[in-house]
Amino acid sequence: MVNVSIDARRNRNDESPITQEQRDKIQKASNKAYVIVRKGYNVLDKILDQSGTLSERERKIREAWMNVTEVKRWFGTDYLSPYQINQINNRLGRLKNNLEGTVRFRIIQHQTGDRSWLCNADSVAYCSGGSSIKLCPSFFYDKITNERGRAITVVHELCHHVGLIDRRVEGNKVYGRDPAKELAINDPREARKNPSNLAYFCDEYYKVQVFMGNTNTKEVHDLDNEKTGRNQCQIDEIIAAGHAKTFNPDTLEQAHKEGYDNCAHCIGQSEK
Ligand SMILES: [Zn+2]
Ligand SMILES: [Zn+2]
Repeated sequence: MVNVSIDARRNRNDESPITQEQRDKIQKASNKAYVIVRKGYNVLDKILDQSGTLSERERKIREAWMNVTEVKRWFGTDYLSPYQINQINNRLGRLKNNLEGTVRFRIIQHQTGDRSWLCNADSVAYCSGGSSIKLCPSFFYDKITNERGRAITVVHELCHHVGLIDRRVEGNKVYGRDPAKELAINDPREARKNPSNLAYFCDEYYKVQVFMGNTNTKEVHDLDNEKTGRNQCQIDEIIAAGHAKTFNPDTLEQAHKEGYDNCAHCIGQSEK
């Protein structure tokens, strides 16, 4: 669980207190942000961390890069050198470090008007120097965003927090999936430092479902904590073999009720 600290921007003494619902939404978004940043980071780490001679390694990196469509989609369709992949990985590493410390949020209580600070009708969050991520009222409004959108927002704002700024094309900030994909094609160098590109790359590893059962072994896995080493969770293999199962509701308790035992790698405390 990510350590978050939350306060509200005070303007007058008639401000509303922070609600439990707001706290929950911030906590969940931060936890998911950590999951997807770590997964994105691990994908790049795996591309970089290879043995052999320099030329073998470069060849392997090229092959790995060619097979990882998420990297190409958000960071450039041309060959990325190990140096360039390492640059992206360093940026994700900085986000990861932030999420392993305390992430500070400040709730702005008005979407528009003279007490909205830098929020405006279209904004969900912003970062304006200082040590906290500012959240506008619409961040909490489910008709505008959802848990996934909130996680992406946290990653995006953390990018600002570590010093990256929104890149612009013809004066407009590159937000949104389609413009970010275009930037990766037209100006990959800019895409590699654009907060939206980094956030959408991480979002590729967002899983709506959290628990997955293996009908063959009767084990349950936590997809947010999937371990990809040899003989560990082997999620892809379970799916390929047709042994994947979901739980309704999607909780560990439900999995236990149906007779599933914890995977030792991603959940631990096996009861067997
Ligand atoms: Zn931004
Ligand atoms: Zn597992």
